[in-house]
Amino acid sequence: MAVITETYLRSEMLKGTLSNPYFISHQHRLTPAAQDFLRDRGIKIEVMGSNSIRTIAKSKELRIPVGVSNRHVHLSHHEVEVLFGKGYELTPYRSLSQPGQFAAEETVTLVGPKGVLSKVRILGPARELTQVEISRTDGFTLGIHPPVRLSGSIEGTPGITLVGKAGSITISQGVIVAKSHVHMSPNDAKEFNVKDGDRLIVQAISDRSIIFPEVVVRVNERFTLDFHIDTDEANAANLKTGDFVKVIGRNGEPFSVNA
Ligand SMILES: [Zn+2]
Repeated sequence: MAVITETYLRSEMLKGTLSNPYFISHQHRLTPAAQDFLRDRGIKIEVMGSNSIRTIAKSKELRIPVGVSNRHVHLSHHEVEVLFGKGYELTPYRSLSQPGQFAAEETVTLVGPKGVLSKVRILGPARELTQVEISRTDGFTLGIHPPVRLSGSIEGTPGITLVGKAGSITISQGVIVAKSHVHMSPNDAKEFNVKDGDRLIVQAISDRSIIFPEVVVRVNERFTLDFHIDTDEANAANLKTGDFVKVIGRNGEPFSVNA
């Protein structure tokens, strides 16, 4: 008789191979901790009978790793020079999940009408547009209430003052609350049966199984699979970077439940 432990289930979850329902044969036994582990995640246990292979194939769950974005700014070359000095280049501090993207050593202070947020990370490399991404909670600290937007869509958004080591600049627009989105490669897109601009319905795999019904899909050869949310969303759903969400529907239509 094979015993399935919580540790084993955890490693399956990390590999993305933990299915719901979780299939075991009648020769398997789950430890009490392993049973709790599945129950806490709303995963049903199904003991395999004959001809269950088809059921397993049908119930293959699509999962996406979570990447939580803290408040950050993207700067243009011009703004980098204003804030840090002529000819200044950002110093990579840590690479991000998307290839070529990095968190810079440099930070700025955001100054709003009601308050200040210091040590706000700059993400590099420098872009064409300066964009400040904050959570709704940050907005209350600053006294700025930006709309929820996809990156790059800053028309009509509020501005803010940024302060760096060598200077400061006030931008007239560019502050957004980032709309949750999924990055994926063309190969992933095939597997998820979506194209750029489609929307996925995803559900947190956590003890707060919140559903995100309109997650925009961004497909690019350079992208690795990642579900990007801000800290407010992560806290509400009890998710952290490295956790997973499961895909439960597409373009407004939940998958039919017949497994
Ligand atoms: Zn992103």
